[in-house]
Amino acid sequence: MEKLILDGNKVANAVKERLKERIFKLKEQGVTPSLVTILVGDDPSSATYVRMKGNACARLGIDSQKIHLPAETTTEQLLDAIYGLNEDKNVHGILLQHPVPGHIDERKAFEAIALEKDVDGVTSWGYGQTALGFGIFPSCTPAAIMKILEHYDISVSGKHAVVIGRSPILGKPVSALLLNENATVTTCHSYTKNLPEILKMADIVVAAVGKPNFVKGEWLKEGTVVLDAGYNEGNIGDVDYDSCFEKASAITPVPGGVGPVTISMLLKHTVDSAERTLQI
Ligand code: NAP
Repeated sequence: MEKLILDGNKVANAVKERLKERIFKLKEQGVTPSLVTILVGDDPSSATYVRMKGNACARLGIDSQKIHLPAETTTEQLLDAIYGLNEDKNVHGILLQHPVPGHIDERKAFEAIALEKDVDGVTSWGYGQTALGFGIFPSCTPAAIMKILEHYDISVSGKHAVVIGRSPILGKPVSALLLNENATVTTCHSYTKNLPEILKMADIVVAAVGKPNFVKGEWLKEGTVVLDAGYNEGNIGDVDYDSCFEKASAITPVPGGVGPVTISMLLKHTVDSAERTLQI
């Protein structure tokens, strides 16, 4: 069977290429798309993600500002920072890097982000609208997974998609997006009893577990499409790539799969948001 490696860099480049003209037009009208990332504390992986996002913005001519708050920041101080950005007309997207230190009420902080600037779909309004099928900004990783499927012309309609994970930014919204595209969706989690049997029935598998090499090829049926959202220490996905590659008809590698497309979706949402300010 011919194998298709779903090349995230290729998909991300196509997304970014299409943004260039839109950014140029916005600038002609005096608007520079602008993303603010907020990092609380000194988690090295989070700092790397924030830096990667900033660099990606710079390469496309999107303004990016990083707000780095100390680990001892209180929920109230974080909320104040977010409220200030909500008011700032020059800011089009606000991204609070997850996770924040444990003493902060992360949910409360996410909810403080203005819906029209919630470019990573973290607010309950944003999530709810995505689930109902009219969200403006779905979470970036779920949006990236759908973009990869679209780019490679892999239809999900009528297919059985099994999502492993039900986090608010990944498993749940990607399940909703797949359902909106007429997939039959099973969402699995840590209480799911017979995961390998469920996976045997999957036409499409989305791994969003946060456990390195978790999904084994022997659990999959021949010809499954595998999307690995996992990103664990040492650039390792949630899918055991070699054994899953044997079974899959199409598979995302890690690195170079879902990750780069996620960043390109963040850029796209920031540009979408900037354009919306001109339409009001
Ligand atoms: P998370 O919040 O830790 O959620 C993990 C999910 O996996 C939970 O729903 C959990 O179930 C489920 N799970 C844990 N053990 C399981 C098991 N043995 N069987 C079935 N389900 C199990 O993680 P996340 O934020 O969604 O991230 C998931 C992965 O994606 C991580 O590797 C993360 O690094 C990666 N990620 C990648 C990107 C990207 O751009 N590529 C972006 C964000 C995250 P319960 O709900 O029952 O606990």
